[in-house]
Amino acid sequence: MHAPGDVRVEEREDPRILLPTDAIIRLSAACICGSDLWPYRGVEAVKGPAPMGHEYVGVVQEIGSEVRNLTPGQFVIGSFFASDNTCVICQAGYQSSCIHREPVGGLGAQAEYLRVPLADGTLVATPDTPPDDLIPSLLAASDVLGTGWFGAVAAEVGPGKTVAVVGDGAVGLLAVLAAKQFGAERIIAMSRHEPRQKLAADYGATHIVTERGDEGVARIKELTDGLGAHSVIEAVGTQESMMQSIRSTRPGGHVGYVGVAHDVQLPGDELFFSHVHLHGGPAPVRRFLPELIDLIWNRQIDPGKVFDLALPLEQAAEGYKAMDERRAIKVLLNP
Ligand SMILES: [Zn+2]
Repeated sequence: MHAPGDVRVEEREDPRILLPTDAIIRLSAACICGSDLWPYRGVEAVKGPAPMGHEYVGVVQEIGSEVRNLTPGQFVIGSFFASDNTCVICQAGYQSSCIHREPVGGLGAQAEYLRVPLADGTLVATPDTPPDDLIPSLLAASDVLGTGWFGAVAAEVGPGKTVAVVGDGAVGLLAVLAAKQFGAERIIAMSRHEPRQKLAADYGATHIVTERGDEGVARIKELTDGLGAHSVIEAVGTQESMMQSIRSTRPGGHVGYVGVAHDVQLPGDELFFSHVHLHGGPAPVRRFLPELIDLIWNRQIDPGKVFDLALPLEQAAEGYKAMDERRAIKVLLNP
């Protein structure tokens, strides 16, 4: 990305092993994230030209001399922060705050090859080489599924609960899928876009609310005896979506916020009297990868349906445009 709105596919030098804990993978598929739209729209500064992409699946090509758990030829999945998976923070399940974490985004996963730091801790191998039709779902596990899943965990979704999901991007839709897996009784998807409403229903949404802001909150209250939902998953990251989430949650309930926050300011007095639990942040996707891979491998979940447009990597610029204009939910790029 050279500047907001300016994405180009260019030749770069192939990544090399820099540290003995690195691995090089050949990407089987890449994709564009909703969070890539923040710099694309100029909401976040572009330190351009910057390599883009932080979601990846692929085949191990080469490993550093200290990598023990991987061998070339294995199919692997990682997520947007590399982590050692051994420090006390990782052991507590917060690998995305690993004391040695490294962002993968700056390395550029919208590419043919990627250097993955801390490979032993970061990458999880699939049982075997996956059939082609599972690759989109495995790629979804790298970020959007893992993030939606964490949203549901953070919002303490469980059997018998009413869950509301704010945001109908890929993360929000997969939070619906997660809520269904966790046994939620009612799942309210907040969406105004017909194709996304349909996918939300496929993934287990029992109600669709098209209103947003205060009207959206009022609709959630109407559906919950005036109380609000037990669990609300926030998957946007704006002031409006965060307040909509907090106000849609009943006293004692939980908000799981996983939309990357942009200029969100929480009013302390309202928070104080809300009695709402808040938990969220960058999802520790690594914590969930073994379980998510297992569910995908056994075809119990199909998160890859969020990819409604696939393009060759050379057409990445068109992919960004399609997502920016909301013509596509999520774009898969074939290297
Ligand atoms: Zn760690």
